[in-house]
Amino acid sequence: MTALLEVENLSKVFTLRAGPFGDPITLAALSDVSITVGQGETLAIVGESGCGKTTLGRCIVRAVDPSGGRVTYHPQEGGPVELSGLSKRQLKPWRRDIRMIFQDPMSSLNPYMRVFDLVAEPLRIHKAARGAELEHRVVSTLEKVGLPRDALQRFPHAFSGGQRQRIGIARALVLEPKLVIADEAVSALDVSIQAQILNLLEDLKADFGLTYIFISHDLGVVNYLADRVVVMYLGHVVESAPTEALFERPRHPYTEVLLDALPIADPTRRGKRHDTVKGEIPYLGDRLEGCPFHTRCKFAEDRCRKDKPALRPINGGPSEAACHFAETIELKGAFSDSPAT
Ligand code: SF4
Repeated sequence: MTALLEVENLSKVFTLRAGPFGDPITLAALSDVSITVGQGETLAIVGESGCGKTTLGRCIVRAVDPSGGRVTYHPQEGGPVELSGLSKRQLKPWRRDIRMIFQDPMSSLNPYMRVFDLVAEPLRIHKAARGAELEHRVVSTLEKVGLPRDALQRFPHAFSGGQRQRIGIARALVLEPKLVIADEAVSALDVSIQAQILNLLEDLKADFGLTYIFISHDLGVVNYLADRVVVMYLGHVVESAPTEALFERPRHPYTEVLLDALPIADPTRRGKRHDTVKGEIPYLGDRLEGCPFHTRCKFAEDRCRKDKPALRPINGGPSEAACHFAETIELKGAFSDSPAT
């Protein structure tokens, strides 16, 4: 796999002021996160709300600055570029190559701008086209995302949720990026519209030669779209695996919990699954020793409360997990009632 993007030991700590005296509190949103995204791959980042997956996406595009670590982009021409070390001005040309699609297109689309100007705006900001060429690129991008020509002069409120997401996708693609980070891109849509947008993203991947980082809490969607999955918990990567391997044979107890929460379509199997995980997600401001999942893990032992497990290949790979006992514990896959053997 040729790497397009490498994230090494990324951390992000937010400092907030709280309480009657405005005392500073720190929240560790990302802790030592390392991932590699291969050229042409769809890499999914999954986990519950607050696990750090959106912060990771925003740190990659530098919508927020990481507190530590490195993000390295490998363009097709020239050597690697360390994005995390660039000033905002130096970063600007690379922002053409790495674009984001957001969950709620309504909040990211200026309601006072017509669709033409919304899609043309990135071209104008980056001085990538003007005049007839700009018009051609806007119109052809809108066609590729399945919006009619008469959409050009209308405002975002005139469109349904799915159509607004198509406008958001057009804005992301009009600069012909290499990497698209889709942050919960279908979560706000009805299930039938979700399927249309997922199919569209698949088609556009082939048309534009894209690589995706697909951030989602929905494992059903991830199973459909992703080549590989990274599971995050409390700002840590706890498992990374090819999609099929992760669904058939999870290697981390938290991944099993996520898979166990998937809806069961087969009525004969109803009631056989959905063991709820014990305990609450710890508060991000608390300093936890040991494994970040130990307060909720049914396999936790004394060692888990003291030593933090490193992410490592399990039985020679391809799955990696951050669990002291990943080789020996028996976990259920997504489509089985009994632990994998
Ligand atoms: Fe559970 Fe211990 Fe593995 Fe953490 S290291 S996931 S607490 S068994």
